[in-house]
Amino acid sequence: MKLRLSERMYRLGTETAFEVAARARALEAEGKPIIHLEIGEPDFDTPKHVRDAAAEALEQGYTHYTGATGIPELREAIAKYAGDLRGMRFDPANVVVTPGAKPIMFYTMMALLEPADEVIYPNPGFPIYESMINFLGGTAVPLQLSEQRDFRINLNELRSKFSSKTRLIILNSPHNPTGGVLTRDDLKAIADLAVEHDAMVLADEIYAEIIYEGKHHTILEFPGMMERTILLDGFSKTFAMTGWRLGYGIFPGELIPHISRLIINSVSCTSAFSQRAAIAALTGPRDDINSMKEAFASRRGLVYEGLNKIPGLRCNLPGGAFYAFPNITDTGLDSRAYADYLLREADVAVLPGTSFGEFGEGYIRISFANSEENLRKAMERIEAANLKLPAVAAEIGAAK
Ligand code: PLP
Repeated sequence: MKLRLSERMYRLGTETAFEVAARARALEAEGKPIIHLEIGEPDFDTPKHVRDAAAEALEQGYTHYTGATGIPELREAIAKYAGDLRGMRFDPANVVVTPGAKPIMFYTMMALLEPADEVIYPNPGFPIYESMINFLGGTAVPLQLSEQRDFRINLNELRSKFSSKTRLIILNSPHNPTGGVLTRDDLKAIADLAVEHDAMVLADEIYAEIIYEGKHHTILEFPGMMERTILLDGFSKTFAMTGWRLGYGIFPGELIPHISRLIINSVSCTSAFSQRAAIAALTGPRDDINSMKEAFASRRGLVYEGLNKIPGLRCNLPGGAFYAFPNITDTGLDSRAYADYLLREADVAVLPGTSFGEFGEGYIRISFANSEENLRKAMERIEAANLKLPAVAAEIGAAK
């Protein structure tokens, strides 16, 4: 028998990070001393008080289903925490807790998109946006983020992407994979365009707390945005809780019953003891979070300076998240070939920029969720590998 898949399955993309990580681990099993710079998760343990809260919750019997949208105390804690962070007020009734933040993308698009509806999304960008749009039969309209603009949105280009079919705009600031951050003025202009074109906005702010200068801004600050914005955030990055699968969305009230039904149809609810731990994360001590942030800030400097000293690479200073997105065009290789080369030649795993869409060509993503010692070692190895590339050697020869 030949298995027949639905046609939509061929439109479903993936996240290359998991595949590259598997290849890197296979090489490691063969004895290669791989340095992992491909993974988008903090290298820190979940804070102890959060782990303790989960253990206690298990003992206390939080092992059953919860309401689809989450435990009321957690929804309240999220509304307060997310509101305080952004200087605004959210209603706990608009908060939906999910197993990780990714389902918020899925549910939002499932709830809003008709076939052929257009979704404007950042490219390079988190690969699941494009995957979900295509899977659901929408039309993916890429918005190129360029190094010259510090990977912020070009507002004229955004304006030109709107059509009568535009249903949704996806924003991600601070941005994966580039570390770009949208300014308050950018967000205001985008808000005006969303209102003018009656488009919804999915604001992926999962890196809101990993920002190196100034304060985080959200499109929700602007008039008319509460009713048309879905805020996506979660625990994976800020609290080093990727494996707990804990995220949330703050939705316009009208959408809540529909999102709730999607949850009931898919996962029923988020794990009960994970949710108890999430309350501890939001309301407990901040020491671990602050030291993680300090570590990321120090590594950012190290990686930025280190990469810019390596022949064949140049890199903007990331404003947020824990990624650097260096331009690799002077190596003479394309993104994919260069990432493969670094894995083979330098035992350093990175992601090709094209893992984040067509406009990621010419770049690689380096995650600095790794120790300073490993980052330094990785820089040395990358430099040595680059010096062996003909294009880099020729460039250095010409400069001499
Ligand atoms: N949004 C962005 C931009 C991300 O980089 C990630 C994780 O890598 C997520 C969302 C998903 O996070 P979670 O692990 O909570 O599902």
